[in-house]
Amino acid sequence: MTARTLNLDDSLYHYLLDVSLRETPLLKRLRDETQALPMARWQVAPEQGQFLALLVKLTGARRLLEVGTYTGYSALCMAAALPDDGSLICCDIPGDYNATARRYWQEAGLAGRIDLRLAPALDTLGELERQKQGGQFDLVFIDADKANYPTYLEHALRLLRVGGLAVFDNTLWSGRVLEDNPESADTRAIQALNRALKDDARVDLSLLPLGDGLTLCRKK
Ligand code: CA
Repeated sequence: MTARTLNLDDSLYHYLLDVSLRETPLLKRLRDETQALPMARWQVAPEQGQFLALLVKLTGARRLLEVGTYTGYSALCMAAALPDDGSLICCDIPGDYNATARRYWQEAGLAGRIDLRLAPALDTLGELERQKQGGQFDLVFIDADKANYPTYLEHALRLLRVGGLAVFDNTLWSGRVLEDNPESADTRAIQALNRALKDDARVDLSLLPLGDGLTLCRKK
């Protein structure tokens, strides 16, 4: 027994998946297809997708926002967990992978719930604020360009309702958060976000070592 988070070796990680992952055949097919793409590492871990779906149900979220969608795995997990009148706005830039996302959403019968907006996410988020969507979202999942993470936090806090949840992926960044004076702007931005969140009185906080690190911030 240990009073700290366990370090999962391969066999324990596979056990975790074996006894808890409920991935549908469609999600598995999407994950396999994505694994063959050059930027496959942009996809969330399957246990993260399942956790996001659980968060949607736990919080009763109806209006979701995703920043960084790629081939649509996390969006598909979250959209499937929404009630019938729920909706998800996805932000991504134009790429070959947009069509993959749309194809799987269509096949799942969930395309009607998902609005994919192809533009720099900062433009889409700013537009939502200008359209008086501030305070209208229940959950925001952020898994896009890391250099903008601190800026995405500010947008998320404006767009979320009180009690809404911002979820950031890759906050442990394969351990690179431990680097001193990193050259990578992405690493510096994640470090800055993590440090700033520690004392950010606007949110309740938990950093889960799930996947590559998943930080949950509840807007107070
Ligand atoms: Ca990610």
